[in-house]
Amino acid sequence: MTMQLTREQLLSAAGEYGTPVYIYHAERINEQYLRLTNAFKGTDSRFFYAAKALTNIHVLRYIREIGCNVDCSSINEARLALYAGFEPSNILYTSNNIAFEEIEEAKHLGIHINIDSISNLEKFGKKFGHTYPVGIRLRPNIMAGGNLKISTGHAASKFGVPLEDIEQVLRVQKETGLFIRTLHIHTGSEIKDVEVFAKGIEVLFEVAQHFPELEVIDLGGGFKVPYMPGEEGTDIEKLGKKVKEEFEEYERKYNRHLQVWFEPGKFLVSEAGYFITKVNVLKKAGNISFAGVDTGLNHFIRPMFYGAYHEIENISNPSGEPKLYNVVGNICETDTFAENRSLPEIREGDFLVFSNAGAYGFEMASNYNSRYRPAEVLFKNGLPQLIRRRETFEDLLSNQI
Ligand SMILES: *Cc1c(COP(=O)(O)O)cnc(C)c1O
Repeated sequence: MTMQLTREQLLSAAGEYGTPVYIYHAERINEQYLRLTNAFKGTDSRFFYAAKALTNIHVLRYIREIGCNVDCSSINEARLALYAGFEPSNILYTSNNIAFEEIEEAKHLGIHINIDSISNLEKFGKKFGHTYPVGIRLRPNIMAGGNLKISTGHAASKFGVPLEDIEQVLRVQKETGLFIRTLHIHTGSEIKDVEVFAKGIEVLFEVAQHFPELEVIDLGGGFKVPYMPGEEGTDIEKLGKKVKEEFEEYERKYNRHLQVWFEPGKFLVSEAGYFITKVNVLKKAGNISFAGVDTGLNHFIRPMFYGAYHEIENISNPSGEPKLYNVVGNICETDTFAENRSLPEIREGDFLVFSNAGAYGFEMASNYNSRYRPAEVLFKNGLPQLIRRRETFEDLLSNQI
């Protein structure tokens, strides 16, 4: 049984900090981390939390304290990670279509770098030769997750160096002396099937033969967590076994040791997050009952952007008579959180909680409709701490000249 915050804890946080508010549960993050490290016991593995899922520095600090490393998708995330106390050697920067200057800056910070284009590999090689190891992000032509919006490894994806172009990588390596230490893939998000990772391993082991200095195979993130009731996530324990087998076999066969890296984002923080909103208005249209809440796609876009399903609980009236509702936002767009959802009777003023809101929730929030971005609260040892205040009118004006 996994840890959860209680209804009382959520209600009291909503009362104290107002809504809409994101609430995170520190120990739940640790629980996921322990599950991961347990599943990969006996394998030479390292885990880098994909910070873009949730970058609040208090969460980053906690992630550091429990012993996890961090993966960044921008130079600013790398700066936040340093600010949160991570050692450069525990920070990875996996770039995609970024300016070479940013890669130079990453090198200057002394962090690990995965480069995702021939163009930047060539610039890096010309400038730094063999002096600084890098990883190459490859595009393995594996379709993962079934959803084009969150799949990054398929043949029409913008991410990574296509496998077909490996000859060009070898040319750059030869001409510049580039030190290639890591082969990286990240095929997408919500990959339930262990076989997708197995396929990735197979592809990378094949490519590995070209790179005598290789030390690391980085399989990226994308572990699935359950969203719908009864749904299953990635079988991490099965994956751990599979990876152990494959890497041991490779070592026996080629007499060569490789370390395996992962970059889990959602897996670590999604289920630790709750998003609490308040019902402003109840409204009827024919036989549809709308519950209009005090937030919208400006604060929590996953349901509209990806068609993501998030469980909703009416924590103000948990034993109310179940009825069907369309839960909708207050933004001047069609921002539907849930359609035809059975929920205990909703009254105006009730608090509704979205679960599984820790990953890509607050991070994707905007000021659309000139609304303030929500507050964030971290529960640790049972105690809530405000870790980001709600914005104010001054924040809306602060960059306008
Ligand atoms: C987003 C991202 C991740 C994390 O993906 P999750 O689905 O949150 O696990 C890992 N690696 C890279 C390169 C990413 O861009």
